[in-house]
This record gives sequence, structure tokens and C-alpha cells, in this order.
Amino acid sequence: MERTANGLDCCSLVKSFTGAAAPVLKNVSLSIRENEFFTLLGPSGCGKTTLLRLIAGLEVQDSGTIDVAGVRVDAMPPFNRPVNTVFQSYAIFPHMTVAQNIAFGLEARRRPRTEIAAKVAQMLSLVRLDGMGNRRPRQLSGGQQQRVALARALANQPKLLLLDEPLSALDLKLRTEMQLELKRIQSELGITFIFVTHDQHEALAMSDRIAVMSNGQILQIGTPQQIYETPANRFVAEFIGETNLMDATRLSQGKFRLASGVVLDAEGSAQDAAIVTLAIRPEHAAITEPRNAGMRGIVRDVAYLGADRLYYVELDGGLIFRIRETNHDWGAQTASKGARVGVALRPRSVRVLS
Ligand code: ATP
Repeated sequence: MERTANGLDCCSLVKSFTGAAAPVLKNVSLSIRENEFFTLLGPSGCGKTTLLRLIAGLEVQDSGTIDVAGVRVDAMPPFNRPVNTVFQSYAIFPHMTVAQNIAFGLEARRRPRTEIAAKVAQMLSLVRLDGMGNRRPRQLSGGQQQRVALARALANQPKLLLLDEPLSALDLKLRTEMQLELKRIQSELGITFIFVTHDQHEALAMSDRIAVMSNGQILQIGTPQQIYETPANRFVAEFIGETNLMDATRLSQGKFRLASGVVLDAEGSAQDAAIVTLAIRPEHAAITEPRNAGMRGIVRDVAYLGADRLYYVELDGGLIFRIRETNHDWGAQTASKGARVGVALRPRSVRVLS
């Protein structure tokens, strides 16, 4: 495996817990580059937190290795690793002021007083809490408390910052604000961030690269665009965004027949399996005249979503196919409930999945 000079390398990590039938992590390998905003994304229970806890040293792997900046860290105690963690529950000390919370790690390492004061001031400014150093946590909002937790973790100047669902306790507006803040802070400091979430929108919006996990394994690693536009398999396609999935039989290179008999063209298929799944994003399909399309059906429902409309078309053969249409210029509805329509597709919008 290629090693990253100043990032994180996990190699063949296996982790089991007593009482569990199968390992929670099954041979996980991963290289994260220096200064990357890297996200572990997957459904609840897939092993994201366990992987983070192994990197932090809060759990010990059964086998495999972990290197940070080329140095093997997997046998080191947590406090010796160049890693800090921000948890979902902010875990800041309620009896200490904001400034004391931020200074905590530096005090423990007996740094000089002037250095601590300067660092605290720098961190308060970084997380936009200037002037709030003397407040107690209970005098802060949830979002502000999360900023204190972040400032405390960053004050120690870790090489890696691990963030375990740090925004999930915040309401949607604060959450969106903090997503931008986290991105800004990461690019200002140039520290590698490893962010755990089960929220695909958050992952797409924030990450340089994403690892999609399921059942203790990494299924795909890529940029948000790669993960969304060229999902490696059916699980990734369904987990990230909405998608229409249809079983099909391969007729020849680039030609596939659906169960309804309709033949579709698809591009970019590297696989040669006889039975495949075709994936089409709702925004890559359009409503057209029935005579202009191979796939036809009846509009069963139309959902007005503000920026766009979602059409539920029951195809001949019974499958419900979703089409998302952008609401350009306060555009009128293209087809109403009950209308017979065709579904227009371009071959490159149809992905062939295993
Ligand atoms: P979530 O998004 O819900 O936090 P996750 O992807 O982070 O989920 P983990 O917390 O890593 O998942 O848990 C993975 C699996 O390991 C789960 O089935 C969980 O029940 C199990 N597990 C985690 N910690 C322990 C433990 N200390 N002892 C036994 N089983 C555990």
C-alpha cells in the first residue's frame, strides 16, 4: 500500500468485541493525506466510531497497523499520539470557564503561562468566541459549546483531529453554519480532519474525500463527486442521494433489457456480468412525450419541493421511477397527476452497477 508522508495510514485493521459474532472492523485499510478533510460515512453500527477510537488509541485493534506521519502509533497510549478528538457530546468541563477549558491540555503539559494565554486568545478568535473567555459553558448556546470543544482540541496542535458526529446535537441552521466554520478552520490551520457522520449531505458538502462504510468494511473511497456520480455498487448508490435502481439483462456492450422489455443504452460499463443493476439519478431523467421515449408510464404523484419538483412515474410493468425537475423561472408543472408520459434519458446518465 502507498504510504502518505504526513498523513494517516491504517493497514488491515481488524477489531472484534467479546460477545459479537463477527468482527466490527474487517480488514480496513485507508490512507489519508496531510491537510485533508476526510469523512467516514455510513449507516449506524457500520464501525465508524470504532475506527476513530482505534486511531485515537481508545480501543486496541486485534491486528493491523496505524501510522501517523510515517510513525507507527498503534501501540502508543492515547496521550502520546499526535491526535485529538471532538465528540458529539461536547464533553467540556462545566465548572471551568471557556478559557480554562481551552487551556486544559496546555496546562497539563506545563506550558509557560504567556504561551498558554497567547494560544487561548488565538483559539478564541479562530472559533469566533472573542470576549467570551470568562463565561461558563452553561452561559453558552449548543453551537458555542461545540466551538469551545473544538478550540480545546485544536489548542494542543494535533496532526490529526478526529471529529465524531460533532454537529449532530445542533439544529439544522446552526449545523449548516458550523459546517462552513469547520471547513474554514481546517483550511486556515492545515490540520488533517477525520470527520464521522451518517449524514450524506454533510459529507458531500464538507469533504475532500469520503470513505463509504458498511458492515465493518470500506466500500468506496473518493471525492464527493466520484462517490455521487460513479458509485462503486448498489449500496453506495442507494446510500448517497436518491437513485432509481432497475434490474436488467445485458444484450450486448452498452445495451440492456429491463424486465418490462424496454431496452436502454448505458455508458461506461467496465463489468461484463449478464445480470446487472442500472442506476439513474432522478435529476438525470426528464419528462417527455410518450412517443419520444422507450420508457413510458403514468404520473402517480407530483411533490412540489420549492427549488424543484419530484414526479413519481409508474412505468409500464409497475416500477415507480422518480424524476426531479428544477423549478426554473417559477416554471409551471410539466405533467399533472394521471398524465401518460415518456421518460427521457441520456446513455451517460445510466450507470451499470454490480
Ligand atoms: P453510530 O453511527 O450509531 O455511532 P458506528 O458506525 O459509529 O455507529 P460503532 O459505534 O463503531 O458504529 O459500532 C459498530 C458495532 O460495534 C456496533 O454493532 C456496536 O454495537 C458494536 N460495538 C461498539 N462498541 C462496542 C463495545 N465496546 N462492545 C461490544 N460491541 C461494541
